[in-house]
Amino acid sequence: MAKKIGFIGLGIMGKPMVRNLLKAGHGLTVYNRSRPAMEEMKRAGAALGSSPKDVAAASQVIITMLPNSPDVEAVVLGPNGILEGATSGTILIDMSTISPLVSQKIYQEAKKKGVKALDAPVSGGEKGAIEGILSIMVGGDQEVFEAVRPVLQAMGKTITYMGSAGAGGFTKLANQVIVAINLTAIGEALTLAAKAGLDPERLIQALGGGMAGSRCLEMKGPQIIKGNFQPGFKIDLHYKDLGLIMEAARALQVPLPTTAIVQELFAALRSKGRGGLDHSAVITLIEDLAGVQARLSK
Ligand code: NAD
Repeated sequence: MAKKIGFIGLGIMGKPMVRNLLKAGHGLTVYNRSRPAMEEMKRAGAALGSSPKDVAAASQVIITMLPNSPDVEAVVLGPNGILEGATSGTILIDMSTISPLVSQKIYQEAKKKGVKALDAPVSGGEKGAIEGILSIMVGGDQEVFEAVRPVLQAMGKTITYMGSAGAGGFTKLANQVIVAINLTAIGEALTLAAKAGLDPERLIQALGGGMAGSRCLEMKGPQIIKGNFQPGFKIDLHYKDLGLIMEAARALQVPLPTTAIVQELFAALRSKGRGGLDHSAVITLIEDLAGVQARLSK
């Protein structure tokens, strides 16, 4: 059944997710900190809200897709925020990647107002968002998840209920460990192969058909060898996720030695002014170290 949905955070991911919700027949009221994205969504058929509070007052379901924990806390709990405008029974779905501990706090604060919160971060990148095939990992109350499953189906294909509040967030952190290490491994492998004089296109083809094949190699390999590092998923955001991962690992007393090294590589990329590039640009750092370029062109 079509719902009145509020959507806050119209960036690389938020905009295509809004388009898919509109396509599924839902009514959308949207808000973003900067204006051009709002105008773009208005042209796509969404109504504009003047604040998170205003969006919440107009909606049965509110979705947030914001950069990090402080942004979600401000938009949900802050002045003129969602909880000021939402009525009892409203469902809040935070699809950003944030600290699972903050998701648990938001769940409790929302509950005090009768608002039911889910943490539902996603994987699949901008392409997955555009095609409506994201993997969505959900934490919170199961009956609330079941009530919004059709809304999630407009944006994703693999939709998994993971457990109580925060479980979606912890799943996403596990996802980001694999992606960060995988992209770094691809960067090292392509740089090694370049120094050995191998053809990068044929290399990707050969690797993709064997045990080294992965979604990362399939989705990012062809872009890497063209030197196309337009984001996608920015190094700055993946560095943020690596911080969330190490924070969770410390709290749970789990050593993550390889992730810790990759976190430092991402820190170096940011120091070099590359934080705005796609996370697959981790290869540029390995190339710098090796004094070789694995790509076909700059
Ligand atoms: P983005 O930076 O492109 O978009 C974030 C949007 O939020 C921007 O439009 C910004 O103006 C808006 N915003 C920030 N603070 C705000 C506030 N206080 N009020 C209203 N609007 C505000 O980021 P993105 O790539 O779309 O990522 C969003 C979230 O999704 C992040 O948590 C990221 O880690 C996660 N994610 C991204 C990808 C990806 O491939 N880009 C994939 C999976 C998950």
